[in-house]
Amino acid sequence: MSGRPEVLFSLFGDLTALDGIGPKTAQHLEALHIEKPRDLLFTLPHSGIDRARRDSVRDVVAPATVTVEVKVEEHRPNRQKGRPFRVVVSDAQTAFQLVFFHARGDYLQRLLPKGERRIVSGKLEVFDGVAQMVHPDHVVKPDEGDQIPAFEPVYPLTAGVTQKVMWKASSASLAMTPELTEWIDPTLKAQQGWPDWKDAITQAHRPTGFGHISAEDKSRTRLAYDELFAHQMTLALARAKARRAPGRRSMATGALLDKVLCSLTFKPTGAQTRAIAEITEDLATSLRMNRLLQGDVGSGKTLVALMALLAVVEAGGQGVMMAPTEILARQHLDGLQPLTEEAGVVLEILTGRDKGSERAAKLAALEAGKIQILVGTHAVFQKGVEFNDLRLAVIDEQHRFGVAQRMELGAKGKAVDILVMTATPIPRSLALAQYGDMDVSVLDEKPPGRTPVQTALVSTERLDEVVYKLRKAVAKGKQAYWVCPLVEESEVMDMTAAEERFKYLRAALGVGVVGLVHGQMPPAEKDVAMAKFVAGETSVLVATTVIEVGVNVPNASIMVIERAESFGLAQLHQLRGRVGRGAEASTCLMLYQAPLTENGKSRLEILRETEDGFRISEEDLAMRGAGDVIGVAQSGLPRFHIADLERQTALMAMAQKDARMLLNDDPELSSERGKAARVLLWLMEQDKAIRLFSVG
Ligand code: ADP
Ligand code: MG
Repeated sequence: MSGRPEVLFSLFGDLTALDGIGPKTAQHLEALHIEKPRDLLFTLPHSGIDRARRDSVRDVVAPATVTVEVKVEEHRPNRQKGRPFRVVVSDAQTAFQLVFFHARGDYLQRLLPKGERRIVSGKLEVFDGVAQMVHPDHVVKPDEGDQIPAFEPVYPLTAGVTQKVMWKASSASLAMTPELTEWIDPTLKAQQGWPDWKDAITQAHRPTGFGHISAEDKSRTRLAYDELFAHQMTLALARAKARRAPGRRSMATGALLDKVLCSLTFKPTGAQTRAIAEITEDLATSLRMNRLLQGDVGSGKTLVALMALLAVVEAGGQGVMMAPTEILARQHLDGLQPLTEEAGVVLEILTGRDKGSERAAKLAALEAGKIQILVGTHAVFQKGVEFNDLRLAVIDEQHRFGVAQRMELGAKGKAVDILVMTATPIPRSLALAQYGDMDVSVLDEKPPGRTPVQTALVSTERLDEVVYKLRKAVAKGKQAYWVCPLVEESEVMDMTAAEERFKYLRAALGVGVVGLVHGQMPPAEKDVAMAKFVAGETSVLVATTVIEVGVNVPNASIMVIERAESFGLAQLHQLRGRVGRGAEASTCLMLYQAPLTENGKSRLEILRETEDGFRISEEDLAMRGAGDVIGVAQSGLPRFHIADLERQTALMAMAQKDARMLLNDDPELSSERGKAARVLLWLMEQDKAIRLFSVG
């Protein structure tokens, strides 16, 4: 299928083809992102006005919108400038006034001829003890009553576009709306009691009560589902395409895995065991793996990665693990090499530091297959790095890499399975929207025996006290992080500069005691400062958020975060995750600039209540909205018009399941339902998906 299906032609035509829409209105509508009849269909009313007919205004509690039949009794023209023209009318029980400013008498004579009956609808107010309706919204003859909808939808407006225009425009586009073949799974549709698409869209535009405006309304839910389903179809198509790429079957024997597991001093958690099984299953198929391992800080992702890497080694291949920084790569080396040695597997490191003959020797060993597992920075994927038989690439802390690099990686190996690990717990609905093209394993269980981190909120006014306690802790051999929000002092934002704080703490605690890392430092200097802290040469590390990711210093038991109120909750959680890694009780002090707003305070309170990263991210989402939790631009997260990502998680999960199932049963989308799904993708302007199935 190369072009847009004919059944949709009219919806994608010119707005001016609609009755009552001229070029001027069409231009005005652009401000609402409405460029064609299709856009009108997906611009739903956000509320409604009850215009049900009553026979008198007598018992109405003003102000309220009323619709009533009246007899025109008397015209009272304005005698003074600026005074309104009044028309006295009476309904079945009482009299009231219709009020018009700047109206011409002859116009009102025609609209409301004395002695005749009319139906009027508008807002009834009481002014100087007199019930009145200023500029009624509707005035019609008694036999034209059906021109006033009993329940009038209220649309978003813009300059030059009134409710009447929207009513007409939506009526016209509804009139040209075709019936479309159903794309939703019939069982699901029946279960949910959802209407057909055309009925749903019509109902959404022509509500007959407030229930129809609510997001829980069946029509609206169906339309939201359509939106999510189209998005998940796009992701499912991308996933199917990636999986169809030739993969390698890596059958693990379990020999190496068992050896390493036996040498551990602890048992893997249930979640780790589950993730390992999911991954080894993927590896054993000929489909290409594209899996995300999501787990809070400290949930033990590294062990899962190691097991995956060993699985491909068992199958005779090689694996690589890429970390975002030199220091993290070294940490992986230090942590993993003793384990792999135990199993007789060769694990090496390659970073930008490797130069000359040493590097050449490593590259040769790698190409000959003598190094079985390589850890390192992005240097592992530089030109000239050749593997003998690369089967698996693990990317640690991927949000430091970005999607483009993820793609690049896939292109590197011929049939490389990919495992991406992230420590950013994001709510399930967002994970589904953002990583729907991947399969996801979740480590939702922490290894046992962790002491919870004591978290406290402290005003910056008590800085001296904090420093005093820090000095005592340092004297006892404890180590602390001190996190500052910005590197350079900005007068406008009044942020505490890391450099200033460094000098201040050095003066207070002693010159050799305090180290500094921040994003503007050359990488080598950063590594030196980090290494000194890891080795315990410095006791306090003043840092910007560069320490957020991954670093493991078990002896560090104190975390001070300045201006905590300026961070996102997820970020604070990540920072706090740097401590509480040893057996010792840890403390996190969140310093804030007083006064804290009510909202700001309750946000930070959540961190005091829980260390569950998923719960924190859910709260963060509820408080800030999806766009802020993961920057929309970088996340590639779509904007949904009808669906609500924050509240319709279950719907998103359904859409993903349904989309994957459809593609599984009908990979070419050639069945009747498959074809209907194609129409949906066109209707929802899922260009990416259309390219995927057009190119095939
Ligand atoms: P992260 O998911 O943040 O990368 P790590 O893999 O660095 O977490 O693990 C954090 C710490 O927990 C490490 O010291 C690791 O050895 C330890 N660990 C991992 N799995 C378990 C387990 N099942 N039981 C006890 N400790 C574990
Ligand atoms: Mg880690």
